[in-house]
Amino acid sequence: MPDRILILGGTREAADLAARLTAEGHWVITSLAGRLEMPPPLAGALRVGGFGGVDGLAAWLTDQAITRVVDATHPFAAVMSAQAAAACARLGLPLHSPVRPAWTRHPGDRWHWADNLEMAARMAPRLGRRLFLTVGARSLTPFQRFGGRFVLVRLIAAPQRLAWPRAAVVLGRGPFDVAGEMALMRRFAIDLLVTKASGGGATEAKIIAARRLGLPVLLVRRP
Ligand code: NAP
Repeated sequence: MPDRILILGGTREAADLAARLTAEGHWVITSLAGRLEMPPPLAGALRVGGFGGVDGLAAWLTDQAITRVVDATHPFAAVMSAQAAAACARLGLPLHSPVRPAWTRHPGDRWHWADNLEMAARMAPRLGRRLFLTVGARSLTPFQRFGGRFVLVRLIAAPQRLAWPRAAVVLGRGPFDVAGEMALMRRFAIDLLVTKASGGGATEAKIIAARRLGLPVLLVRRP
């Protein structure tokens, strides 16, 4: 019996994997949480929306006769990863969890670490006055205590509204290039980059740009 592969997606790596496996002739279905109105095109089959916890996922895997699961979610999607591990263990299904390589520190890097978003939100005002916030639309809330400080927020899709009186929004989806990131940081006179320590190549350009500009970076540790 050929494999029926579920890819838990929402990342570039998941999209690349779906394209590769489909091109190799495998049957693949990618699952997205449904956070974006316009997800990028994906090879193979697609389903969208939560499964309903471990029980819902286990029932869906059984119903769809899935034979293996790849957890290619974002490193910060810890709930989905834990649920995938539990459901696969319950059903005895093979689970592959490729780990996105972490960014490595280079000479000249001025990195500060926060254990979580709340800690980063408390640290940021002490480290910078003009922030470039690249933590994602669903992680902005803890940072909204900045009040009058300037915040440049990068998002994939236009937000409904932003709570900051002095904020600018730039829309974009990686990969980004270093020259563009440096130009953006210069244009908005950014003095602190705030990011999840997501790792991987697609969004590393901002880390390299901050290094070249001598700017501090506040990184939120992976959960
Ligand atoms: P999460 O906190 O780990 O998961 C919350 C709930 O969302 C899960 O319990 C599950 O609902 C549903 N869910 C998450 N990923 C799903 C998937 N691929 N397919 C179906 N349901 C999914 O996840 P999150 O951090 O909100 O991230 C949501 C999605 O965005 C993930 O697929 C992730 O790869 C992508 N993403 C996340 C980030 C980030 O910074 N967190 C960044 C870029 C992309 P049920 O319990 O109902 O099954």
